[in-house]
Amino acid sequence: MTSPLLQIFARADLSFEKGEGAWLVTSDGERYLDFGAGIAVNALGHAHPHLVEALTTQAGKLWHTSNLFHIPEGERLAQRLVDASFADVVFFSNSGAEANEAAIKIARRYHFSNGHPDRYRIITFEGAFHGRTLATLAAGGQAKYLEGFGPKVEGFDQVPLGDMAALKAAIGPDTAALMIEPIQGEGGVREVPNAYLQELRALCDQHGILLIFDEIQTGIGRTGKLFAYENTGVTPDILAAAKGIGGGFPMGACLATSRAAKGMTYGSHGTTFGGNPLAMAVGNAVLDVVLAPGFLEDVERKGLLLKQRLASLIDRHPTMIAEIRGHGLMMGIKTRVPNTDFVTAARDQKIIVIGAGDNVVRLLPPLIVSDAEIAEAVDRLDATCAALESEQAAKAAPGAAL
Ligand SMILES: *Cc1c(COP(=O)(O)O)cnc(C)c1O
Repeated sequence: MTSPLLQIFARADLSFEKGEGAWLVTSDGERYLDFGAGIAVNALGHAHPHLVEALTTQAGKLWHTSNLFHIPEGERLAQRLVDASFADVVFFSNSGAEANEAAIKIARRYHFSNGHPDRYRIITFEGAFHGRTLATLAAGGQAKYLEGFGPKVEGFDQVPLGDMAALKAAIGPDTAALMIEPIQGEGGVREVPNAYLQELRALCDQHGILLIFDEIQTGIGRTGKLFAYENTGVTPDILAAAKGIGGGFPMGACLATSRAAKGMTYGSHGTTFGGNPLAMAVGNAVLDVVLAPGFLEDVERKGLLLKQRLASLIDRHPTMIAEIRGHGLMMGIKTRVPNTDFVTAARDQKIIVIGAGDNVVRLLPPLIVSDAEIAEAVDRLDATCAALESEQAAKAAPGAAL
């Protein structure tokens, strides 16, 4: 099929007309259980009545004013994020990469304002994904994404995840910040041990380095806390959020302590669209639900339920599944077949799951998923394994299949 779209996505031959909660529906009425949620974006599922109401009400009033004026809904959303986190100040962007760009700029500017303009290097970790802008690509450090785009943006050093000696060796007088995902998402739902994060915090304090958490995937309730750092015993200085923060409306946020953000002054950063009234209305509506009493506790409980059910799949299909990993409603299945085959076979069973690095299949259901839908998902993944097993058996013994 020829398409006027820039051909950068290998899309499945499937499209949807509408969504309801944890379900996606095609134009001919076929229903898929959505355990991808738009890559952790549709945090409250599809067509959540409270979000639809907030969006349509605001759409009839005011969409955009520019940041030349106060935006009360944005002040309110920022205050709620501040009250619910370590942060003192918030910058709103339109995407994850932009939230990370803000984080990088805030960290560099902190040292600049302290009289150390040469202190601008950021240390990141192998397997990271921080976005597709030139700076966040350099931060992610993945050769396949950097290839052909000219010189890599200067000032990023990468060390193997978990290698404390390599990290200590990489820290120099020009190190401004460490930047890490508490659970690597695209990298394969790789959880960073709390002890390692605590060591990072101590190293940062010792050397006057800022700690940046990229919580674009882990944030906004995904792990059963508003932000995943709350599970770790570590508090960052700067945090990037996006994906679930708008429940499907494009937006991001960079949170920081006032100390870390002290270098940012009038004019030192900006955005045309970021923090517009429409986005802010939806962001507030997402928090109405996520911060309601009991909601996050229920996400935690459902995460455990999902993990237990998935663990039983290893026993039933040891030749298909090697490992279950993750936290809350951010789960990874390390498969023994190519994860792309698994994702396709799962789609045949009418469940959407998402590939990741390290041959992992990610499960990122909407946070409103029900216990019954979790059970249904695991049944469909069980059927996926069974279908792949009979395919393998038929390949191994072609005669027997005839
Ligand atoms: C998705 C993601 C990004 C990039 O977000 P965009 O909105 O695509 O720019 C950055 N970091 C992490 C951890 C992500 O999961």
